[in-house]
Amino acid sequence: MAELSHKTNWIRCYIGLGSNLEHPVTQVSRALLELERLDCCRGLIHSSLYRSDPVGPVGQPDYINAVASLETTLTPLQLLDALQAIEQLHQRVRIQHWGPRTLDLDLLLYGDEQINNERLTVPHAFIQARNFVLYPLAEIDPDVYIPNQISLADCLKNCDKGSLELI
Ligand code: ATP
Ligand code: MG
Ligand code: MG
Repeated sequence: MAELSHKTNWIRCYIGLGSNLEHPVTQVSRALLELERLDCCRGLIHSSLYRSDPVGPVGQPDYINAVASLETTLTPLQLLDALQAIEQLHQRVRIQHWGPRTLDLDLLLYGDEQINNERLTVPHAFIQARNFVLYPLAEIDPDVYIPNQISLADCLKNCDKGSLELI
């Protein structure tokens, strides 16, 4: 008799974290613990924390950024819901596009999937352009595959480290 087995599909994902309000280092550190404790997720690893210049409206505080990676059995939209629930735990308020925030959690990569719907674009739309995403990503997985784009190594060649700073 064929052996009964449950096949669980674990997908490795990459998440970008950012904060520039209300003690950003604490916000990002807490969010990493919350990601580690998410249901249906395992094996969290994360980069160092980095300080970056703000993107978007001028005059906002510097950002603290990191990139985390975990395996999940959640679908992409379920994972986005979980990330947005964590943002809400951090009292994220959306007033201004790219404005200051207590916590931003962006789904950078979901396995090798390409997703385009009204809630989700994966790989993240600006993954290639942002030093505060590319450098922490390379720290945890320099060979990560970015579907339908140039290699991470080539992205890094095209993206100046600028004043991005390891903290
Ligand atoms: P950016 O996407 O340029 O980093 P942002 O992170 O400031 O901007 P948010 O206000 O956090 O943008 O999110 C706006 C919307 O973006 C969310 O409601 C979500 O549905 C959508 N979105 C699309 N793709 C993604 C993704 N890969 N990760 C997170 N949110 C995404
Ligand atoms: Mg973002
Ligand atoms: Mg976001």
